[in-house]
Amino acid sequence: MPRTELSFRDSVDLMFNRAVALVDLPPGLEEKIRVSNATYTVRFGVRLRGQIHTFTGYRSVHSEHMEPVKGGIRYDLAVNQNEVEALAALMTYKCALVEAPFGGSKGGLCIDPRAWEEHELEQITRRFAYELIKRDLIHPAQNVPAPDMGTGEREMAWIADQYKRMNTTDINGNACVTGKPIGGGGIQGRTEATGRGVQYALQEFFREPRDVARTGMEGDLDRKRVIVQGLGNVGYHAAKFLSEEDGCIITTIIERDGALVSHDGLDVEDVHHWIAQHGGVTGYPNARYFEDGNALLEQECDILIPAALEGVINMSNADNINAKLIIEAANGPVTAGADEILRRRGIEIIPDLYANAGGVTVSYFEWVKNLSHIRFGRMQRRQEEARHELIIRELERLDSYLGNAWSMSPGFKSKYLKGAGELELVRSGLDDTMRAAFDSMRAARDAKAEVTDFRTAAYIVAIDRVAASYRAKGL
Ligand code: NAD
Repeated sequence: MPRTELSFRDSVDLMFNRAVALVDLPPGLEEKIRVSNATYTVRFGVRLRGQIHTFTGYRSVHSEHMEPVKGGIRYDLAVNQNEVEALAALMTYKCALVEAPFGGSKGGLCIDPRAWEEHELEQITRRFAYELIKRDLIHPAQNVPAPDMGTGEREMAWIADQYKRMNTTDINGNACVTGKPIGGGGIQGRTEATGRGVQYALQEFFREPRDVARTGMEGDLDRKRVIVQGLGNVGYHAAKFLSEEDGCIITTIIERDGALVSHDGLDVEDVHHWIAQHGGVTGYPNARYFEDGNALLEQECDILIPAALEGVINMSNADNINAKLIIEAANGPVTAGADEILRRRGIEIIPDLYANAGGVTVSYFEWVKNLSHIRFGRMQRRQEEARHELIIRELERLDSYLGNAWSMSPGFKSKYLKGAGELELVRSGLDDTMRAAFDSMRAARDAKAEVTDFRTAAYIVAIDRVAASYRAKGL
């Protein structure tokens, strides 16, 4: 166990090392998989508010065993090379785990996006994109960014447009970035994808009684008490779907400026609306407010969902965490030291490289859509409906022949007749991916007595797959 808190990069390496020790790999290949291939640092100036402001950005490529490489772009003042490299490494393992055919990458810009007006952010984003595009660090076949903390579909649309301006004859230009708005080459269900993936991950966890029993919980997600940290893209969607569709009670929402608590359950939509209007949770009238939000991570709950930033569960609070299950919606929210403590305490963790892989999974679908230049379901939908209609007509004919002896359940006909559109297909593909990846983690956990947690299992699956890909190349 580390005696002091490790950096994010060292935490990821330590978790990798623990898993790789259980995989039979030649030492050279082990090292090749672990190391980061390259990190590009760029400093550029933009004239804003009458003076030149210099910004620092990064794009790190961890592994190119498959190309393009993929990973989000983060806007935050705390962005640094160590963090970007750790996140790029996580992307390599995440893509391998969910069988998205990409290497791992990540980017970041040191900026407080709330400090700038929209048109200023557009100028800064386009300039950052320009620097990356001219070095093929944004490119449909080489490196495909996506949203991350502080960025969303607006920034992705600017990046796609900037790429297309600089590559006017590239017919696949839209595939240079994912997470774009629907009108700008995006795909249905991408914005919600990471939160949706967190929901599917939890649903899959609760399908296996052995997993549930390890936590001391029973049954399914219904009435489970949940704490969410960070009501941004990932946290908001996860909390919304879990409360609206699975019956979870969101007792606590922790944000930058404090936390809200309601033992009867918070109205996620209402809180989200309040934050959008007021910039934080302070003053929200329908719950108790606590200024020291982080202290509430230690509150008793069934499921704790850190969905903000890394390192929030660390050696200083891991002993006091009072959750039965932690699902890492954020990247790296549990440090290596805390991971050790929590494992010793028997607290189950669904690790980041699996838990938040819904984003990259649907990004993969978006990239495929952009390259194929056709919306999913466009060719099959009406044909599927016509075939269903044939069966329904035949059933109705038989029924009238039998003298209307039976009838279909209400709503059955319209539900059965409806062919799958893009959103249904994206959800189905995401659900399938999350289930299959969980199965592979379970199999790796069951295969070796030394594997006692899902994180090690997830790394083993990922390392095996990356190694197989290098071997296939003759390395
Ligand atoms: P976001 O910027 O939309 O939301 C982050 C939220 O966390 C914001 O509401 C912010 O106010 C809050 N927050 C920031 N600092 C906080 C603090 N100290 N305490 C409590 N709350 C705080 O970002 P996001 O896209 O939702 O990303 C969140 C995490 O999920 C990150 O770790 C990111 O890497 C990871 N992730 C995101 C995606 C994606 O598709 N967006 C995919 C995979 C992983």
